[in-house]
Amino acid sequence: MSGLFVVIILYLIPQWLIRPASVLEFLAVLALALVIDAIANTLRYKRMVCSVSAAVTAAVLFTLTPGVPLWGKLLGVITALIVGKHIWGGMGKNPINPALTGVILLYLLFEVSSPPFDGSLLLIPAIILSLPFIKFRPFAASGLMAGMLLSLSINGQLTLSGIISLGVIFWGCVIVTDPVTVTAKPLTGALMGIIAGLSVLLSPGFPAAVPVAILLLNIVSYVSDKLADNISDKKKLRIKIPLKYSLEASDLIDLTSKGDISMKSQNTANITKEEILKRIEKNNVFGFGGAAFPAIKKIRTVIESDSQKKYLIVNGVECDPGLIHDKWLLRHKSKEIHSGIRFLSNCIDFSNMTLAVKDSVGLEYPSDIRILKVKDYYPAGSEKALINEALGILLAHKTVPSQEGILVFNVQTILAIYEAVGFNQKADSRYLTVSNLKTGVGKVVRVNLEEKISDLVEKLYPGNQLCFKGGGIMQACAASEEDIIDSAVNSIAIAGYPQYKESPQCSKCGECRKYCPSGLEVDKISKLVDEGRIDDAAALNATECIKCGSCSYVCKAGRNLGSRVEKAKRQ
Ligand code: SF4
Ligand code: SF4
Repeated sequence: MSGLFVVIILYLIPQWLIRPASVLEFLAVLALALVIDAIANTLRYKRMVCSVSAAVTAAVLFTLTPGVPLWGKLLGVITALIVGKHIWGGMGKNPINPALTGVILLYLLFEVSSPPFDGSLLLIPAIILSLPFIKFRPFAASGLMAGMLLSLSINGQLTLSGIISLGVIFWGCVIVTDPVTVTAKPLTGALMGIIAGLSVLLSPGFPAAVPVAILLLNIVSYVSDKLADNISDKKKLRIKIPLKYSLEASDLIDLTSKGDISMKSQNTANITKEEILKRIEKNNVFGFGGAAFPAIKKIRTVIESDSQKKYLIVNGVECDPGLIHDKWLLRHKSKEIHSGIRFLSNCIDFSNMTLAVKDSVGLEYPSDIRILKVKDYYPAGSEKALINEALGILLAHKTVPSQEGILVFNVQTILAIYEAVGFNQKADSRYLTVSNLKTGVGKVVRVNLEEKISDLVEKLYPGNQLCFKGGGIMQACAASEEDIIDSAVNSIAIAGYPQYKESPQCSKCGECRKYCPSGLEVDKISKLVDEGRIDDAAALNATECIKCGSCSYVCKAGRNLGSRVEKAKRQ
């Protein structure tokens, strides 16, 4: 983005040579833009964020309004940044080009000479350096420039001087190549570009015609991208929809034939530690939180650990916004979960047993279990974050918690232990959340492992639905016709593909680093991956990525950062 700013400055040089005092005016407009942006960003993010985009906005506005007095330009930049940018949520979220909102206001308020440039050959370096920016939105840019050239031809002004004066390359390569506000779709981009270019036919009597037409292009881009199923070849799902759900006992949809296991029928009165461990192993209990690690291995590692104190943390945090089944289990299987915890405490002398949850309202557990309400953020439920929160122990990147005497199991794993020990029941079914993200409704479902996902979805949401599967919504990817429900699937969701703007312009806001629970330099890793330097990227601890997807979710440039880090991790 700083490169773009430099190119726009080159467009200003002819203006400055004619009227040197306008350099000071430009500095005043620039300073105001930076101050407004810094205040708005600080209020929004509680810290300073890079404001190059505000500098670009100021420079575009100044370039396109040469005859407007200083106070008008200051008014224009305030309008641009507040109305065009910050009321939409700030950087990367504005559907319309901020500078053009200010420009249109000034064109309507003042006698603005149209076209904005004087045809000086001094603009040639700026024009040449603008050309590479076409790669960001080639279809919209080509359409716009074609439309403008056609208009000039109809008006009999198709000369080099006419092209320079109208700023064909400036509009085409600097304004409509903004990935935040202009669609990457070939047909929509090209068609809307041509229509915007033809607005030049109206511009002699209505100077605001071109910026108004480009704002229209922005709005069409926004709507068509929103409606689109897929503007990215990356298949990772992004979700902002909070689920609507009910957690009554009767809300469970049980698609197994197992029925409800009664507490009364188990026979474990004199069960030994070895028998408990044997049943857990024999019945293939695994980690239901997503890792699917054999439970017996974790338990034995804790038993064999040299640590003086042993801890049990039952993870009921379920921080992923698309999951609800653990909440249901915590409320309706509390006795069974408590029994499962008891079986474990018969094998290991825990100093402390904690049940970590986000919402403790309505939970009833005996007093030997400490209920810990953790902060509500994603991914609060990641194992090491939880250990830190529950025990105040900060484990190093490569430390394995069970080797330190810390046993962390998801609530559903504890329930499976209860069923395996109490009833010799195999861990061959699971609870999961099936949601329809188009309606925002989530359901708790019990299914047999290895059932085809497409069959399950057909039962619950008939029709040929595109669906996603994963450990949670934030880590989901598209499910194929043949995919089955395996030990790692916690979530199935019906949804369209996510929309990634994939802006090449990292704003250096640092949000991806701030929200990465593994403390990775996500922006740096992604940049190296984009440059093809995968080995260098992998060396930045990419293996520590827990695939939570937070970085992609928060990225202001709308980039699929998680998939880039994953590429480095695979290396
Ligand atoms: S997906 Fe990986 S890199 Fe991105 S925030 Fe999560 S842990 Fe960090
Ligand atoms: S890559 Fe990171 S620093 Fe760059 S815009 Fe995205 S979140 Fe901000």
